[in-house]
Amino acid sequence: MNEKKELIGLLKEELSSYLKELGEPSFRTKQIWQWVYFYGKTDFHEMTNLSKNLRLKLEQNFILSRPKIITSQQSVDKTKKWLLEFNDGQRIETVYIPETDRGAVCISTQIGCAMGCRFCHTGSQKLTRDLTAGEIISQFMVARDEYKEWNIEGEKRKLSNIVLMGMGEPLQNYDNVVKAVKILTDGEGIGISKRRITLSTSGIIPYIRDIDRDLGVKLAISLHASNNEQRSQIMPINKKYPLPELLQVCHEYQENHGGYITFEYLMLKDFNDKISHAEELAMLMKKYQINAKFNLIAFNPWPGCDYKPSSNNRIHAFSQKLQDYGYAAPIRTARGQDILAACGQLKSEKEKI
Ligand code: SAH
Ligand code: SF4
Repeated sequence: MNEKKELIGLLKEELSSYLKELGEPSFRTKQIWQWVYFYGKTDFHEMTNLSKNLRLKLEQNFILSRPKIITSQQSVDKTKKWLLEFNDGQRIETVYIPETDRGAVCISTQIGCAMGCRFCHTGSQKLTRDLTAGEIISQFMVARDEYKEWNIEGEKRKLSNIVLMGMGEPLQNYDNVVKAVKILTDGEGIGISKRRITLSTSGIIPYIRDIDRDLGVKLAISLHASNNEQRSQIMPINKKYPLPELLQVCHEYQENHGGYITFEYLMLKDFNDKISHAEELAMLMKKYQINAKFNLIAFNPWPGCDYKPSSNNRIHAFSQKLQDYGYAAPIRTARGQDILAACGQLKSEKEKI
């Protein structure tokens, strides 16, 4: 190997074949994997069951670093947000949202986003680049460092879940996301189960089928409208992958997985928040035979956005109507608003208005 390789983000079999090139036997893979992903070590010299010679060889051939933490902020509601910088100077935000005895780390998959949804702060900036698998995983590793959660059992972890709901459209960076999820779920390392990972997408239909086959994580669809025309007005991707086709694919996903599909529905004042919209949604779900759960999300305004949040009364009436039709429709209030950590508020630092 000529130049140093990033170790974090290599699949086990890739690490194995690099070690083979260095003349190391295959059992070393598991040892190194555990130091990196179970004990969270960032220094080869702390890997005490490896010979000094091997530790030196590893140091000469691999990079084992974390992104730099530029700022770390905590909200009054204990939501935490880190601004992280990668080797090329690009920055992203990662958020931890605590619940009583567990919590989710919200991870970004791209710098910016090409989807251009009208209500989204990330979408108002162009796509700069995809994140590598290593960069996706290392956001979670930073959170584990900060909460000192290496080497502890699953049920005791505060960082129990992962949501791919930060900056970017995960299915536009498919290969790296698949690789990252495989590493995050590996039982000899980080060990987060598939059931605890939710992938949120604006609806890239072909990849929804693939994700079903390759990963089987929980799926959340950003719906945000109850008919095709309205969805196209706020989500340009709907012109390429229209609502009826999207719902058909959701139906198929559910046939394979059972359970329910989560739909995120942003409550936008006077746009999609009337009772008639709730009725229309319920009819759609019946038509496509989808067992749906709706997360009604309070819209988080940002400077320069045309939309306004719906009133609490409207949101409650909307939720009640969906429940009357038999659908769960919890209201998601924004977390971490004071530190701009809520959904749709993440943006690269240098792009902030
Ligand atoms: N690109 C993926 C995942 C990241 S966005 C997707 O769109 O699903 C995560 C969630 O935040 C999506 O449901 C998105 O619609 C929502 N969101 C975007 N802008 C928002 C805003 N201003 N207020 C509240 N939620 C927002
Ligand atoms: Fe991209 Fe999701 Fe924002 Fe749309 S809502 S612009 S897909 S990050």
